[in-house]
Amino acid sequence: MKVTEHIIRGEGKTQFSFEILPPLKGQHIQSIFDNIDPLMAFNPPFIDVTYHREEYVYKDLGDGLLKKQVVKKRPGTVGICAAIQNRYNVDAIPHILCGGFTKEDTENFLIDLDFLNIDNVMALRGDAVKTETYFTPEKEGHAYASDLVKQITALNKANYLDDQLLNCSATDFCIGVGAYPEKHMEAPSLDSDIHFLKKKINNGAEYVVTQMFFDNQKYFQFVDKCRSEGITVPIIPGLKPISTLKQLNVIPHRFHVDLPEALIKSIIKCKTNVEVRQVGIEWCIQQSLELKKAGIPMLHYYSMGKSDNIKAIAEAVF
Ligand SMILES: Cc1cc2nc3c(=O)[nH]c(=O)nc-3n(C[C@H](O)[C@H](O)[C@H](O)COP(=O)(O)OP(=O)(O)OC[C@H]3O[C@@H](n4cnc5c(N)ncnc54)[C@H](O)[C@@H]3O)c2cc1C
Repeated sequence: MKVTEHIIRGEGKTQFSFEILPPLKGQHIQSIFDNIDPLMAFNPPFIDVTYHREEYVYKDLGDGLLKKQVVKKRPGTVGICAAIQNRYNVDAIPHILCGGFTKEDTENFLIDLDFLNIDNVMALRGDAVKTETYFTPEKEGHAYASDLVKQITALNKANYLDDQLLNCSATDFCIGVGAYPEKHMEAPSLDSDIHFLKKKINNGAEYVVTQMFFDNQKYFQFVDKCRSEGITVPIIPGLKPISTLKQLNVIPHRFHVDLPEALIKSIIKCKTNVEVRQVGIEWCIQQSLELKKAGIPMLHYYSMGKSDNIKAIAEAVF
């Protein structure tokens, strides 16, 4: 079922959903199931599965020469989606990127998803590969998520890349896109970022999931701004409980979001990561309860592959 239908069916009740990462190459899928199993008690209508593009590593050949190698550390997004739908009978939502995909790759990826009865896709640009500063699209790929959304919408109208194909069947994907209450790191301003968010929606996206934030006011202000710009689709808040002291620096650096002073102070006081994890859980519970009170129909948790803290939050909120 489409995310938009799940929201309508929820009849205003706040629902629980979450995102998982494919395991590192070589790890068994059971590790994923072990983390999903305890969360199924909270009836998630869907589970997102991230996509991880290739990375470049340089191998020292020992003679002063370096060999560039392409590695994919977390493959298996599509396989995990199929496994989740089989095992739990909930909707799995694969993330799909512009980065590393030609338009032909995208079309073939979408055909696989359609054959697997996947009803939703999360369309994202992706970041620059780790060894590069700026995002570079594939030669025959998309530079922005709005262009990727356009291709998915075209397939939903049975428009394949090869216009010689006859009597093609249309897909029927509900398309989600990302948004940034604290602005995407490359956007010159929040207004400009919202302008391009609107373009993704005009091209066919039907719902939005936000980047993590730790201050609900940023989310509320962002939603108000989007609404005043004419964006009417659901804007699902993305939430992540802090779980280690190191994340105090890693999260702002990686995701370009601020942490509120009160949260920073509570974390700094902690003597162990066990204590930090508890602070993160409590902060996220308070955020979730406030969002629930405001009538937000869906909350989305970034599990990062570990479920014990998400379970503790869900127990307190849903
Ligand atoms: C909910 C969510 C899930 C995510 N999941 C994944 C994942 O699974 N795998 C992964 O690798 N990454 C993931 N990301 C990270 C995402 O790929 C990065 O944040 C990426 O840098 C931007 O992706 P986007 O789809 O928001 O890009 P876009 O919407 O294309 O925007 C990128 C930047 O370009 C600007 N822009 C957009 N269109 C134009 C235009 N036409 N002209 C000029 N500027 C423009 C925007 O303002 C923004 O600054 C996720 C992010 C979110 C919020």
